[in-house]
Amino acid sequence: MPDLLVTDAQVVSARGVTRPTTIAIDDGRITEVGTDIDADADETVDADGQPVLPGVVDIHNHLHDPELFPERIDFASQTASAVAGGVTTVVELPTQTAITDPEAFRRKRDQCSRLAHVDFGLVAGNVDDPGLDVEGLMAEGTRDFKCFTADPYRIEDRKIVALMDRVGRAGGKVRVHCETQGLLDHARGQIEGSDPEVYMDSRPIEAELNAISRMGWFAEYADCPLHVVHISSGSGAREAARFDGRANVPVTLETCPHYLAFSKDDVAEKGPYLKVNPSLKSGREVERLWDAVADGTIDLVASEHFPTYEEERARGWDDIWEPYAGLPSIETMLEFLASEGVDAGRITWPRLCELVCERPAREAGVFPRKGIVEAGADADLVVFREDEYEVSADDLAYNGGWTPYEGQEWSRRIDTVIRDGAVVARDHEVLSEPGDGSFLARPLGVESDR
Ligand SMILES: [Zn+2]
Repeated sequence: MPDLLVTDAQVVSARGVTRPTTIAIDDGRITEVGTDIDADADETVDADGQPVLPGVVDIHNHLHDPELFPERIDFASQTASAVAGGVTTVVELPTQTAITDPEAFRRKRDQCSRLAHVDFGLVAGNVDDPGLDVEGLMAEGTRDFKCFTADPYRIEDRKIVALMDRVGRAGGKVRVHCETQGLLDHARGQIEGSDPEVYMDSRPIEAELNAISRMGWFAEYADCPLHVVHISSGSGAREAARFDGRANVPVTLETCPHYLAFSKDDVAEKGPYLKVNPSLKSGREVERLWDAVADGTIDLVASEHFPTYEEERARGWDDIWEPYAGLPSIETMLEFLASEGVDAGRITWPRLCELVCERPAREAGVFPRKGIVEAGADADLVVFREDEYEVSADDLAYNGGWTPYEGQEWSRRIDTVIRDGAVVARDHEVLSEPGDGSFLARPLGVESDR
């Protein structure tokens, strides 16, 4: 007898949507997907004819940094927010605390294992010295190395090339934050005042375009796969796509929900609640970015979740330069894309599944255990419902007390989240416990040497 049946589900994959069907789950795995499953189970979740997606695999987020994040903003509270938003696997990136040697990697893995509500992988970074132990870090279970072209974690171009050279040889991938610091410095020097709106002018689009182009050539020169994180403009997507087509190494293009949801015109109303790097661009660039998401130019969407408390962020009304940039977004990403992407007619359900489940699962090295609803996969599922509602931080599990999406009217809500064969969230109420999730050495099958 299965542990759990999900009945009357329209199963979404990157290739299509099934007619209402049943998903049987046993021992944390999907055992069968089909219309003729006639079994009793310990528990049944009726999907009521609604779309059911694989659990989201979010490969860019900042969830744990005891040196930087305040109390109670840690891997437990932030992965609880993730699971409430249908994100059942994360790949977490360093913020201030460097993860650039195997011991630091193991320490973070052990800390996070005790706190995790979801399965997780880790990225090494932020690289400041290309002489780091690339092979040793890969043996611990990562293949991703993050570096910056912009402050505060910027390294020199020659070091980025050297890093790409070493990581490319080792079979890894380099992720780069693409904004050229010289352009940012010049733009910042032109700006007077500290209103939220001037912030957008301090990070011109040309800084992104120039850095993407340079990193594309660097990656091609060094024969290193490149992942361009958080592309903030349609023009940026087109710039990166030039290399995806011509370079002899793969280039993957990532964007984030806030670059699709907001333009710089929204800053007048939302002020510091839209402070993020790269900054928001024009409405025209937002429309072009949606086009790039729809037509396959953008490979995947990641949350780039960065947690802060509301009272800390609110200080930016007086001085926009003061608060740390970044937005809490892991819990709202899927509902935003389902409402403003699928229901608004910009993308299809299968494309949504490709963008946040299947492609990131492949990118993370965890496909097909994650990212697809089929027999043998982990039983990580999101059941939607149609609902007209106004987004409110009060309804979220996120403990920072705010969301940039406050007041938006959305049409799809996550009803039930299943992870590892158990119901772990209902209506943003989290039922799992810290420590329920496990570390994923990536790609799967490469075991840690401990
Ligand atoms: Zn980031």
